[in-house]
Formats: sequence, C-alpha cells, structure tokens
Amino acid sequence: METSVKNLSIEKVKTSRLSEIDFDNLSFGSVFADHMLICEYVDGAWQSPKIVPYQPLSLEPSAKVFHYGQAIFEGMKAYKDSEGGVWLFRPQENQKRLNISAKRLAMPELPEEVFMDGLRTLLQLDEKWIPQAAGSSLYVRPFMFASGTGFHASPADSYTFIIACAPSGAYFSGKVSVLIEEKYSRAANGGVGYAKAGGNYAGQFYPTQLAVDKGYQQVIWTDDVSHEYIEEAGAMNVFVRIGDTLITSPVSDRILDGVTRKSILTLAEDLGIPTEVRKISVHELVEAAKEGSLKELFGAGTAAVISPIASFGYKGKDYELPELEDSYAHKLKKMITDIQYNRAEDKFGWRYSVL
Ligand SMILES: *Cc1c(COP(=O)(O)O)cnc(C)c1O
Repeated sequence: METSVKNLSIEKVKTSRLSEIDFDNLSFGSVFADHMLICEYVDGAWQSPKIVPYQPLSLEPSAKVFHYGQAIFEGMKAYKDSEGGVWLFRPQENQKRLNISAKRLAMPELPEEVFMDGLRTLLQLDEKWIPQAAGSSLYVRPFMFASGTGFHASPADSYTFIIACAPSGAYFSGKVSVLIEEKYSRAANGGVGYAKAGGNYAGQFYPTQLAVDKGYQQVIWTDDVSHEYIEEAGAMNVFVRIGDTLITSPVSDRILDGVTRKSILTLAEDLGIPTEVRKISVHELVEAAKEGSLKELFGAGTAAVISPIASFGYKGKDYELPELEDSYAHKLKKMITDIQYNRAEDKFGWRYSVL
C-alpha cells in the first residue's frame, strides 16, 4: 500500500504564503495552499506527476475544455486532530468516482497510485495549511480537464490532472429554504448526472438563480420526466425523515453516488434507525408536511456534511419543517465528523492516515 509513485518530482515554493493567511477568518475555498500536484496525459500515457508551487496555467484558446466541456472534479477534505494527526475520509471512494466520471466523459482513467500517493505526498508537504480549529479542514479539489487542442467536436488527445487545496473554515449554511423544481432538471436519463462533471453545475446555476430571486437559497431537483420525485438538494444528496424513518432516493444515472450519503445510511442503520432507499414523491412530502409526520429534510455532501432544510416551497406554497431537539441531522453529523476528526472509534475503517 505504501508504494510511492515513480518519478514524483517536488519543486517547493521559495517563500511560503502561509503567514499571509488569516486562519481565524477562513471562508470556503477561496485561498489556496502553497503547492499543487499536476500530471499530464500525452501521447496515450500519463506522464510523471509533479508537485509544484500553486500557480496559473497556460492553455491554448483551442483547448477542448473551453469548447466541449470535458472537465470533471472531486471534492474531499483533510482533517487535523487535536494531536496534529492528519486524516482523509474514504479517499479511495473519490479515486474510484473520478475514474467513473472520466469514463463517462471519454477521458483517460487516472492510475490509482498517482491519485493516492500524489495526494498523500501533497498533504504531507502542505501539512501546515490544514487548519485545526473546530469544523475547519483543508478542502481538497482533484480535477481533470481536456488540455488537448482542436475545434473539431471529438475527445481531446491530452488531459491535465491537478490536485489543489484550500484551507476552509467551518461551513454554516444557516436556515435553508428550498424550492422544489417543477420545470428545470439537473440531470436526465442516460445523461451525465452520476458523473462529477463541471457542466452539471453550469446547468444548475440559472434555475438556482431564479429560485434565489424568489427568496429561496437552493433548489430540490426532481426527476426529469415527471418532476414528481425528489432527487437531489442542490449539489447534495437528499434525505427525508418521515415519522422515524430516514429515506433517501436510490442512486441512478441521474443521482450522484455521494460518499456522505452512503456513510449516513451505514451509520443510521448501525444506530437502529429505520432506513429506506426508494423514490420519494413530492406528493408524499407535501402530505407528510400537512399531517405533521414530516420531521426532517436535509442535504448531504462533503462540504457541509449535513445541511438541514428549514422549509420548502412547492406550487406557490411554503411548508415549514419543525425544529427538533435531537434531530437525526444533528446526531448523524456529529457521528461522521467525530470519525473524520479522529474523535471516535472508526468502526467501519473509513479513516485514512496521512500523517
Ligand atoms: C459531490 C456531489 C454530491 C455529494 O457527494 P459527496 O461524495 O458526499 O461529497 C451529491 N450530489 C452531487 C450532484 C454532487 O456533485
């Protein structure tokens, strides 16, 4: 397991920018650590990965990423415990998913050791960039795009893989009100919804802006055919609690297979919470809200872990969710973050030691 990537070269920064960063006032993903990992795919092969100072890229205007959108990414976090130990959470899941996305976008798959060993080496080098304050972490963004050139609409012949990192403070979403989308779709049958493709986000921005104009913060996506079933909450997986049962939609080619989602399901089952993985209709949600059995609605994803929803709008009406003392959202978020920050036993072997 400790194999190191062949020929990983490291060029360190001359002067670290660390002292310029106000670690007490970190927002999300807007300042970047000293180094990045970069690996190029040319002539049918991945070249030697390099760690270099974080820096701008030089690309030709004809690079295919600008025209045909071959661009995928991952999102994960590195956590520092109270002893200074550094951890990742189920990083192999992100490595596998990057290659699932790559395949769907006709991009080359990245060798596992470039991802894993490159990531570990990068984090060890930029270890001081991992904040230790409660809820803070180093957000890690691996991504790949078509750097090969040409205006003809076909896959590029060269690609660039990068891992860049951003120290980030605790993510508080506040009271989120969401709009259940009846017209636009995030993803469609046979499409790229299950891939973490940049274009999926581009397509979400406009409908989300319309929802924001109406006073909501986010959109709950429904299926593209009937708009009768809820599928995701913004760029997060969606969970509903009706009575004592925790329900989430099954993953499909429209719904992204989130690491947070599957971890929540495992932990909930382990706690003895009744769980169901099945389609959830908007009708069921509205009826449950009316009769008072709708207890919780939340989004799940790496950035916020769990983002509780306070109310949802549908066909011009708003439905409030109750404020619970001991919500599943609160309990499950605590369980996951306790594992991530090495504060609790790691029963399922999810923690990955970096340093
Ligand atoms: C990234 C993402 C998620 C959450 O995945 P995690 O692995 O839990 O971070 C959910 N839905 C969409 C659309 C996403 O892009």
